[in-house]
Amino acid sequence: MGKVPTKLVSWDDVVEWSRGLAIKIKESNYRPDVIIAVARGGFVPARLLCDFLNVENLISIQSQHWTEAAKAADKAIIKFAYELDLSGKKALLVDDIVDTGESLMLARDFIMKHWKPAELRIAALQWISPVAKLKPDYYYIEVTEWVWFQYPWTRLEDTFQFLKRMLSEESKYKAEWSYDEIVKKFYEWYEIDVGETYFKDAIKMLIEEGILELRNNKYYYKSS
Ligand code: ADP
Repeated sequence: MGKVPTKLVSWDDVVEWSRGLAIKIKESNYRPDVIIAVARGGFVPARLLCDFLNVENLISIQSQHWTEAAKAADKAIIKFAYELDLSGKKALLVDDIVDTGESLMLARDFIMKHWKPAELRIAALQWISPVAKLKPDYYYIEVTEWVWFQYPWTRLEDTFQFLKRMLSEESKYKAEWSYDEIVKKFYEWYEIDVGETYFKDAIKMLIEEGILELRNNKYYYKSS
């Protein structure tokens, strides 16, 4: 598995994009009674949309497709499916990004069949137009070349997965690593700076998971 084109998204970006998305929704005159966050990526944007659109009702559905950073599982599933009556309600389904669109399509179909809102529209901060099988009704950014967006809510998880991938590859050529060497190689691979706290926490997790070993201030990758 090789290097992944990656872009860092800041909390400020998230607020700005959510606000921009809210303006588009407002301009279309769609006034949702309820916002449905797709767990987990849609949580923060959905909460911000509640604020910017003055919506009180926020619920969630967990539709999962990707199991780890930039690596697809076979198919999407609805976790913890429950029954709900949304008849007569205008709903807005919110996610962070429409990549393949599969998890969103699954959530949309489940909601229409089981929760039966009067209307359901879809909003996402970003839409990867060349690969998505679904175009959201509202999006803030159209992405024309596939990139892994490193959102602030998956920073540790992504840093962990990225380090794991990088070290499994690079440890074929280099057995012993200092902390600084790991960080430098991470920049070379992903060209983003997640900050020292995240690096340290992710390295700690790699040790806890038995992927890295620390001896005399040097790190060693343990191939399983
Ligand atoms: P959908 O396109 O319906 O959101 P996917 O299965 O493509 O469904 O993606 C599910 C989730 O995985 C997204 O909501 C997002 O949280 C995460 N994800 C997928 N692709 C990316 C990407 N390119 N960058 C960052 N996160 C992503």
